[in-house]
Amino acid sequence: MSFEVKEKNLLGRIGKLKTKSGTVETPLLYPVINPNVQLVPAQRLKDEFGFEAVITNAYILWKRYGSRVTEEGLHKFLNFDGVVMTDSGAYQILVYGGVEVSQAQIVDYEESIGTDIATILDIPTGWRIPKEKAQDSVSETLKRAKTFFKLKTREDLLWVGPVQGGRHLDLVAKSAKAMGRLPFQIHALGSPTEVMESYRYDVLVDMIMAAKMNLPLDRPMHLFGAGHPHMMALAVALGCDLFDSAAYALYAREGRYMTENGTWRVGEMDYFPCQCPRCASSTPKTVRDMPKREKEVFLAEHNLHVCVAELKRIKQAIRDGRLWEHVEMRAHAHPALLTALKRAKNYESFIETHSPTVKQSGFFFFDSVGLGRPEVVHYRERLTERFTPPDTAEVLVLIPQGKEKPFHRSEDFKDIRRVINRLDEKTADRVHVCFYAAPFGIIPLELDEVYPLSQHETSMPLDYEVIDYVARQVSECLFRSNYKSVVFVHDPENWGNNVKNRCRTTCKKKKIAFSCLTLGESSTKEFLASLNAMLKQNLSE
Ligand SMILES: [Zn+2]
Repeated sequence: MSFEVKEKNLLGRIGKLKTKSGTVETPLLYPVINPNVQLVPAQRLKDEFGFEAVITNAYILWKRYGSRVTEEGLHKFLNFDGVVMTDSGAYQILVYGGVEVSQAQIVDYEESIGTDIATILDIPTGWRIPKEKAQDSVSETLKRAKTFFKLKTREDLLWVGPVQGGRHLDLVAKSAKAMGRLPFQIHALGSPTEVMESYRYDVLVDMIMAAKMNLPLDRPMHLFGAGHPHMMALAVALGCDLFDSAAYALYAREGRYMTENGTWRVGEMDYFPCQCPRCASSTPKTVRDMPKREKEVFLAEHNLHVCVAELKRIKQAIRDGRLWEHVEMRAHAHPALLTALKRAKNYESFIETHSPTVKQSGFFFFDSVGLGRPEVVHYRERLTERFTPPDTAEVLVLIPQGKEKPFHRSEDFKDIRRVINRLDEKTADRVHVCFYAAPFGIIPLELDEVYPLSQHETSMPLDYEVIDYVARQVSECLFRSNYKSVVFVHDPENWGNNVKNRCRTTCKKKKIAFSCLTLGESSTKEFLASLNAMLKQNLSE
């Protein structure tokens, strides 16, 4: 097996990819090497920036340098001792509509130059393409993938099986399924460049997930043409392991300065928000005054440093189990990214199934975007499937979350517990206490120490969607259970009326008694006396 997963969080993973020229760690970004004009020499990319692998275009090499690369060998030709991936010319097909090379020729060339990771000659779908044409690109790519296995002669290269289909998700799914059945070591999602250029990251989420959910999960997935640090965390979280970036150089040519939160024009900057070796000793003004080529190299090198730094943050976030928080942070840098993260909620069940949920650390819950987190989804699904109230439970006492966690140890709850404890044991068994709390919904007292029900911090005040989610969870829990009555402790200051109203409506539908006690309306003593009276009344009926 050439790929081994070491750490996981969401669908993101730190893995080891073994090639004939060495083992590299994923998530991995290959800087694109343009054999004609290279701003930063390949070997420097490895030695000074830490890029263990690069990507170059086999079609351009074939066309321009031909047998010279075969004779020298690709690594020597590029003067690079790391891992080299070659793309096949598919991008040129997309841009120019065709290449003057057959798949047999390009496969033979990739093998003979000794690349480490190679791509078959697929047919990219492109962006604004009608469905029939997209279907053709999927069928032709699959046909070529099948014939490819009769063409290849070497066993030591890793081969990439590209998934096509563009924005036609059913085609992407079909393509992924068919490609996944063939013995490729790596898969790649083709033609997302235009989607990213038009900032349709929400469409990109759909495309990635359509591929991911239909490919073998034990193979790494490459996202072609994705090289901007502001979207990498999202792509990694959705299971992309490999990226390539021509953007670092293309942006540099246009005077664009990448950051993990977006792109700036160096012409409009007064300060550099970066401490990479280039920026630390320079200012935007000195860069603006540089000769064209020098400026381009400066920006290319800065852009590369930013990409490396962001990849390291992403890896650390995977190790710490904090990738969701990291993605949320990046998503708030651009509305298109936040839209995309909201779209990822459509896949919450798949993400939850494949993400480890037992972690060491607690998490931060900011707002309703976080309702898509695997921890929240996992708890909801487990509670629905597995939890039933104790057999003796007749009266449900619903209490709002306290300030401290676990809730049962909170000061607010101690008085309430005393009232329940004053009942004789057999009667007390007929009372079941649950908390309503954000973001989990309803938490039975006996579970409130189970991870992560107490191991998180929530920002207040709660937003409407979060309150509504909790209200729905309370209602659904009542529909599933057989309580005879509900005593609802109402906290209008933190919760408004939504949870209370939904709870009352559900009780009415289920024909169970509903009584309500409002916090802050009377003294603690009066409140506890009312609770006592309500319990006794409900228990005597
Ligand atoms: Zn910098």
